[in-house]
Amino acid sequence: MKKNFDVIVVGAGPAGYVAAIRCAQLGLKTACVDEWVDSSNQQILGGTCLNVGCIPSKALLESSENYEKACHEFSDHGVITGKVRVDLDIMMARKDRIVSDLTQGITSLFKVNGVVVITGRARLLDSNRLEISDVHNKPAIFDAKSIILATGSKPVNIDAAPLLDDVIVDSTGALSFSEVPRRLGIIGAGVIGLELGSVWRRLGSEVVLLEAQECFLSMADEQIAAEALRQYTGQGLDIRLGARVVSSEVNAGKVTIEYQDKEGTQKEKFDRLIVAVGRLPNTGDLCADGSRLLMDEWGFIHVDEQCRTNLPGVYAIGDVIGGAMLAHKGSEEGVMVAELIAGKQAQVNYDTIPSVIYTSPEVAWAGKTEKTLKAEGVDYKSGVFPFAANGRARAHGNSAGLVKVLADADTDRVLGVHMLGTACSELIAEAVIAMEFGASSEDLALTMFAHPSLSEAFHEAALDVNGMAIHIAKKSKS
Ligand code: FAD
Repeated sequence: MKKNFDVIVVGAGPAGYVAAIRCAQLGLKTACVDEWVDSSNQQILGGTCLNVGCIPSKALLESSENYEKACHEFSDHGVITGKVRVDLDIMMARKDRIVSDLTQGITSLFKVNGVVVITGRARLLDSNRLEISDVHNKPAIFDAKSIILATGSKPVNIDAAPLLDDVIVDSTGALSFSEVPRRLGIIGAGVIGLELGSVWRRLGSEVVLLEAQECFLSMADEQIAAEALRQYTGQGLDIRLGARVVSSEVNAGKVTIEYQDKEGTQKEKFDRLIVAVGRLPNTGDLCADGSRLLMDEWGFIHVDEQCRTNLPGVYAIGDVIGGAMLAHKGSEEGVMVAELIAGKQAQVNYDTIPSVIYTSPEVAWAGKTEKTLKAEGVDYKSGVFPFAANGRARAHGNSAGLVKVLADADTDRVLGVHMLGTACSELIAEAVIAMEFGASSEDLALTMFAHPSLSEAFHEAALDVNGMAIHIAKKSKS
């Protein structure tokens, strides 16, 4: 195999594979190396996102939501089903099929674009050299004019609950339980904990989420987070805030945990326990001694705003540099870096990264929260519209939630949009586009939206910024 490239990308997750494709599109001789293989040493592309993250979790969220609707909502539409039951094997097989189709899709994209795929574990030797060990641990040296590190992240393990067989698992284990746990504990009520908790609650588990922080979803808008908490609790998720797990013990296939809260030490017994307390970068043995790549105390690679590391010609993108640990953030960094290497101008707008929690209702936001604006001393106005007053949401059958638009008090420029409701993962794109184009709330107010559609709630929230919402019984602000 050729061992000399313009660019070698380390990692074929959404950051790395997108970077590799764009490099190849721009005429650079590109290779992408990844160590992920199946039990027969066949390479698996797509990283965490496709294999054990975004895609399998969304497949299970979709399946479990269908089950819940069939059990509790169809009859309201006059659709009478008889007894509905879950076949977990079929559900898991569907999830695996989706994952496999998509990962094979990346193989095809690499082929079409001429990206050379290398199977193995890479170690950075210096600015232009990588040592890559194949599946038999045989090392070889590869040269590249530029190197892009996209090695991603892995779940954090905690001493209070070390992983054990299929009883104490991380997010990966929780995507393939062989049966629905009767009682399921989850350490961490963040995005991953809430999504996985929703899947298993819908399928029949009694779910308890133990969250060390007192504040629920501290990164989201406070009003949205409070309403989301009310919705989740109403659905039966038992979310305990200020609950720090301090120990766990597995006995006869069940796990007993101890946690501390304001009242003292508490005990709980579960059939399964998921540890979902965050993710750390895959940089443990990424660098040979003396490579001098700068990292922080947690192992995140230090980069400037264009993802350049301290080593000339070496870039790092995606989860491995921290920030918003989201697939689309990594992909955009991949495109930016590829274009910079090809000598073009490029940048990522970190102010408009959309964040989504794919529960029901969905939580989605982009831009600044009220809390941040207050902390920054920015004078702002806000407009809010509830989905309860939106015809499409009513027809849909789930009209929980609201849309909030925050705009600069002087310029009227949209600074943040926060949503809770059905399909907000799709609706938030409208807000991102508006913010990318520097839209004012008046621009949105003057835009026509299809009726009936959920996006009318976004329109009305923008109108409400200046007290002009039509379908809301509230006194005009002007
Ligand atoms: P990764 O996807 O982690 O890929 C890194 C790749 O590098 C891996 O394939 C690994 O094998 C390879 N690698 C590592 N070290 C080496 C080495 N030394 N040599 C060779 N190869 C190496 N994000 C979203 O945006 N939306 C979601 O809905 C979402 N849901 C999620 C649900 C779950 C359960 C989880 C766990 C994560 C979710 N995420 C979601 C986060 C998302 O998966 C990550 O942000 C994304 O995968 C990061 O992409 P990446 O390319 O930086 O790294």
